[in-house]
Amino acid sequence: MHIIESANISQLTTLRIGGVADKLFAPKTKEELIRIIKQLKAEHTPWAVLGGGSNSLISSNGVKGAVISTASLNWVERVSGNLVLIGSGAKMPKSAGQLSHMGLSGCEFMEGIPGTVGGAIIMNAGAHGQWTSGVLEKVTFLDTFTCEEIIIHGSELEFGYRRSTIDTKRYIIMEALFKLTEDKTEYISERMKQYSRQRNMSQPKGFSSGCIFRNPSPNLPAGKLIDEMGFKGEVCGGAEISNIHANFIMNAHGASSEDICYLINKIQTKAWTTRGTWLEPEVCGMGQFTEEQKMLWVHPNKRNSGNLIVPAEKEILVNELSKAS
Ligand SMILES: Cc1cc2nc3c(=O)[nH]c(=O)nc-3n(C[C@H](O)[C@H](O)[C@H](O)COP(=O)(O)OP(=O)(O)OC[C@H]3O[C@@H](n4cnc5c(N)ncnc54)[C@H](O)[C@@H]3O)c2cc1C
Repeated sequence: MHIIESANISQLTTLRIGGVADKLFAPKTKEELIRIIKQLKAEHTPWAVLGGGSNSLISSNGVKGAVISTASLNWVERVSGNLVLIGSGAKMPKSAGQLSHMGLSGCEFMEGIPGTVGGAIIMNAGAHGQWTSGVLEKVTFLDTFTCEEIIIHGSELEFGYRRSTIDTKRYIIMEALFKLTEDKTEYISERMKQYSRQRNMSQPKGFSSGCIFRNPSPNLPAGKLIDEMGFKGEVCGGAEISNIHANFIMNAHGASSEDICYLINKIQTKAWTTRGTWLEPEVCGMGQFTEEQKMLWVHPNKRNSGNLIVPAEKEILVNELSKAS
């Protein structure tokens, strides 16, 4: 197992933003992960889980406590027929490629989504009209309250657009069983190439967390709204709203989490005051954010105007995690 003290974790995110975490763990097995959680609980050290960091905004002021990277929990094993067990840290595009070679279809949409399978379940990642929840059979969690492994059928979990109701304060996804359908590798890889071409034409290249906001409704893409409000190309420090896709905020050159928060706030404020539309961040915050920054994840009607005392959503503060455990 890998343990690094005072680890700079910006490189573990696709935005390449984030300060120092007190400790970084990278378990290679489920047993190692369980041992780490037992140790952190005994020490009263707060912790947070990081998958591919492709939907995470980590504070440039760092993370107090431990970050557990799932990167080495990355197995892809055919269990039988069309059932495949995938470790939570396996990257989506690589897994989709391996499944294609096995002649198993259903995860082609994961091509080009740079996160892990665990992150995909938490976020119910999707593309091209398909969702992670659509191919999920069972999920193996570590219940961090009891330090026991539990297996839950996919149909018993609740999923929505870019969200699940999985309580990440309590549960860590260790692996998941996917139910796929058999097809010829050449057809599967052709579909993946097609998806990849579409993505390359519509999305900017560079450091980002993909779409920064959830679409406010199925008929109103956040990118269209942000474009209409004239934000394309807007800059704050090293961060820039993409000229290609307005729902992407790019780390153009050495951006900090403050730069990204500034742009999120500016976009949200204009959408709310001029259109009455709440743009909820899709990106999850982690680490030391100011009270004001935490409010970016809270609906304006739930904010206590002036006094920012509304508790942050569960993803925001790594410290919040340990309170429950
Ligand atoms: C260029 C680009 C394109 C993208 N395109 C798409 C797209 O087409 N569709 C789409 O849906 N998304 C897209 N995304 C967003 C992102 O890739 C997905 O949301 C992805 O599912 C996040 O996975 P991750 O492993 O990177 O999660 P992370 O950012 O590491 O984590 C996200 C959240 O999940 C939690 N988490 C992660 N792993 C676990 C685990 N094992 N157990 C418990 N909690 C966990 C984290 O604590 C955090 O709260 C894109 C991102 C980028 C940068």
